[in-house]
Amino acid sequence: VEFEQYHDASGAIVIPDRTTLVDFVESNVSAARRDPAADGLIYRYIDYSSSRQGEVAELSWSNFGDRLYAIAARLQQVAQRGDRVAILAPQGLDYIVSFFAAIHAGLTAVPLFDPDEPGHHDRLHAVLGDCTPSVILTSTESAAGVRTLFRDLPARERPRTVAVDAIPAELGSGWTRPDLGADDIAYLQYTSGSTRVPAGVEITHRNVVTNVMQLFDGLGLTRASRGVTWLPLFHDMGLLTVILPAMGGATITVMSPRAFVQRPGRWVTQLGAMSDGDGVFAAAPNFAFEHAARRGLPREGESLDLSGVTSIINGSEPVTPASMRAFNEAFAPYGLAPTAIKPSYGMAEATLFVSSPRKDDEAIVIHVDREDLNKGVMTVLDPDAVEGNEDAIPQVACGYVAPSQWAVIVEPGVDGSTGEHDGTGRELPEGRVGEIWLYGTNVGRAYWGRPEESEATFGNRLTERLPEHSRTVREFGTVPSGARWLRTGDYGAYVDGQLYITGRVKDLVIVAGRNHYPQDLENTAQDASASLRPGFVAAFSVPANQLPIDARNGAVIPSDDSSETLVVVGERAPGAGKADPGPIADAVRSAISARHGVTAQDVILVPAGSIPRTSSGKIARRACKTAYVDGTLRGGHQQTAFPDEPA
Ligand code: ATP
Ligand code: MG
Repeated sequence: VEFEQYHDASGAIVIPDRTTLVDFVESNVSAARRDPAADGLIYRYIDYSSSRQGEVAELSWSNFGDRLYAIAARLQQVAQRGDRVAILAPQGLDYIVSFFAAIHAGLTAVPLFDPDEPGHHDRLHAVLGDCTPSVILTSTESAAGVRTLFRDLPARERPRTVAVDAIPAELGSGWTRPDLGADDIAYLQYTSGSTRVPAGVEITHRNVVTNVMQLFDGLGLTRASRGVTWLPLFHDMGLLTVILPAMGGATITVMSPRAFVQRPGRWVTQLGAMSDGDGVFAAAPNFAFEHAARRGLPREGESLDLSGVTSIINGSEPVTPASMRAFNEAFAPYGLAPTAIKPSYGMAEATLFVSSPRKDDEAIVIHVDREDLNKGVMTVLDPDAVEGNEDAIPQVACGYVAPSQWAVIVEPGVDGSTGEHDGTGRELPEGRVGEIWLYGTNVGRAYWGRPEESEATFGNRLTERLPEHSRTVREFGTVPSGARWLRTGDYGAYVDGQLYITGRVKDLVIVAGRNHYPQDLENTAQDASASLRPGFVAAFSVPANQLPIDARNGAVIPSDDSSETLVVVGERAPGAGKADPGPIADAVRSAISARHGVTAQDVILVPAGSIPRTSSGKIARRACKTAYVDGTLRGGHQQTAFPDEPA
């Protein structure tokens, strides 16, 4: 076991009250300073923005320490304890060093976006207004962009902008070790904003240190593991990939999301090139696997050996068998092990990581009956009864819950007076679908500045817990009685001890008293017409009295008729820009009616780029619904406001 002294005899992770992320990084840096032979590489950044083969910049442990302490010392001169320090820099080494510097200064780091990246400005303003940083860390190159963000504020309300690449290393001698405990906040992790304005989760040192150890344990990583990442660093999954090396000693190669999207082969090449250590790890959302399979194969004559790749997390969005299959088929000839892809579940409220298959396990795909699933029961179909069965829905297992973390399935309920979805607090047995609730010292304690939402999300009590023996889940340690559980807002179930995620509570489509998962409806729509852009379809429900006039089919809808109706919006596929929408909508409507027994009240086609997405690329169905209702979606207008923001 790595981090042995932080595990008790049962295998549970125990972090002493005075231990912080600073201790781990500092001990790694000082080991490298003592022994130059141990001064290996920690971060490598490959910049493809101005050259095809990429320009490489590297940080050894001692370089990393030098830069980190210098920036931290500067921060200690200009900020007070408790201040937030936002990182607004392009993907790269400056970003990474800045994040750790804010933490080493004893302040609250807030990893945010590249200010020069178009399309993120609404999010950026929303979160800056929320966390009100006193200092912004950026690079010289982006400092002008940062200053324009704040030009409308009165001078004394503007945060101080610090260009970290201009800070001389000598300043580092002025750094003093902050007086911190495990329960002090290390950083704010903003959620993606798929269903609301992004919320900043308060991540303590205990939370992040625990979650990194859970990742090591869950994936079987060691100090000699190597990583490759292109995920945005402001996103929980991207951030953890660069915290892993700093804490656990592994080395990682970083590139930008754009570098990957333009040429996914860059990522694949690096996965192969890093194979000299003890296994290569990476993480990516589902679409990336298909993208890499389609466009990331090596060219004629190029060699590629992926046999050293041990774990690529597939997480942050629903995992599809098709994407995994495409990746495995494309890269098996290059030595990719069938166990490499790790469908995983996680979220910002839990720091990141909740569950994944173990190191040597292959991903499991089961099929369940649609009708039963919609009623909350996982009826697993015999593999022989799946072929050609339109009611067989594939479900990908997200493996086992990490050590020292607990996920229980809680009976859903609807509050009679408010109509809000509410858990009853009673745990459900295996095979039943309910809301996933979490407990563990990796779970954050609150949302920054949102006391009510925090209590509703983080402060839940289980009213009935099943006896341990009725679960097939491995458990380490015990949950204290009276524990406060996190409501994840996701539906899921256990089957054979494996956790399955079935969909978001807020996105569930309920029409005429029957439940439908939006992604299931969206798949049907996509299968019905090649004119819809795959992955860019949104299904949601709209109260009848909020339907636009032209979606009412001439019917007179009483103003108090708030019964839910189904609406499907699809972006036009490439080449279908001018296709007649009538026959496409008819095909979608009849497929949905045949397969799901529900009538789509409205099916509309919109230009590519119209369906709102988060900065990490997730589909935002609620924002889509808002735009549909207020009429802005039809015109192909890019929706940027948040679904829960007052207009
Ligand atoms: P917001 O909470 O602001 O609406 P978000 O929930 O997308 O945004 P994150 O914390 O980045 O913000 O994402 C976590 C969510 O992503 C989970 O709650 C879940 O809905 C979804 N998710 C993560 N992993 C998976 C997975 N393997 N399968 C299905 N959904 C997943
Ligand atoms: Mg969420």
